Amino acid sequence: LRNDCPKGHLRINFLDVGQGDSAIIDMPDGRMLLVDGGGAVGNPVDPGRTVIAPILRNRRRKHVDIAVLTHPHPDHFTGLASALTSVSVGEFWDNGQGEKDGAGPLYARLLADLRSRRVPIRRPSELCGTVFHFAQAQLRVLSPCPAIDPSLHGNNNSIILSISMGTKRAMLVGDAEETEESKLLKELRQQDLQADILKVGHHGSRTSSSAPFLDAVRPSWAVLSCGVRNRFGHPHPRTLNELSRRKIFPLRTDLLGGISWETDGERVWMSSAVSGRLSLP
Ligand SMILES: [Zn+2]
Repeated sequence: LRNDCPKGHLRINFLDVGQGDSAIIDMPDGRMLLVDGGGAVGNPVDPGRTVIAPILRNRRRKHVDIAVLTHPHPDHFTGLASALTSVSVGEFWDNGQGEKDGAGPLYARLLADLRSRRVPIRRPSELCGTVFHFAQAQLRVLSPCPAIDPSLHGNNNSIILSISMGTKRAMLVGDAEETEESKLLKELRQQDLQADILKVGHHGSRTSSSAPFLDAVRPSWAVLSCGVRNRFGHPHPRTLNELSRRKIFPLRTDLLGGISWETDGERVWMSSAVSGRLSLP
């Protein structure tokens, strides 16, 4: 997990940040994205310092090309805020709801810090409908498009990313719950929803990963990012059950540690920190 990705491959490292979400995406052209950074209210352990920064240091990375905050909740922005202090940042993508509704002093500081460093802050209105090319890989923002729905609460305005290369695709849905999932089902065609690996919404809670959504995405793998014995009961047994009924292989960061998915557009390599190489049963 700590090494650079071979050039020409697309790799997503789902980091073990405990209860929260964080992923490093290595694009085939060498650019790197950091999506969320974990962190929890009242937890003195900051995964930005304990998990993300050491990985970046080890890889001698001093620059994040695009940092994405899927939605302004502390289990996504706390570690991101601290990790970004030690690197330069090309762009910051954010759904903007935190500035409208107020997401607390740490979030406000993160934005003020980025602005003082003249990092462009880009919002869904600018990101939706564009295909971003990274050599052989493409990235799209699928939601919230064309902008957040201010009547919806946090999770359901999560930035949803689709990253594809060749015949392979990954989808990361932040903390999207059933409301945002069904919005996507209405807005997109099935072929734009299908993905090989899905980072499921809201840490595997029962309010995400609805049956119609799983039927449309039809992934082989599902990543559930959650802390060991977390107090929220994530992932919910119902979610695990829905996955297993569809023969979708669950990858839980609380059991496997960090998880890596890598593709050359045709083949896929999977591994986890705890169990090494992974393959479909
Ligand atoms: Zn969350």
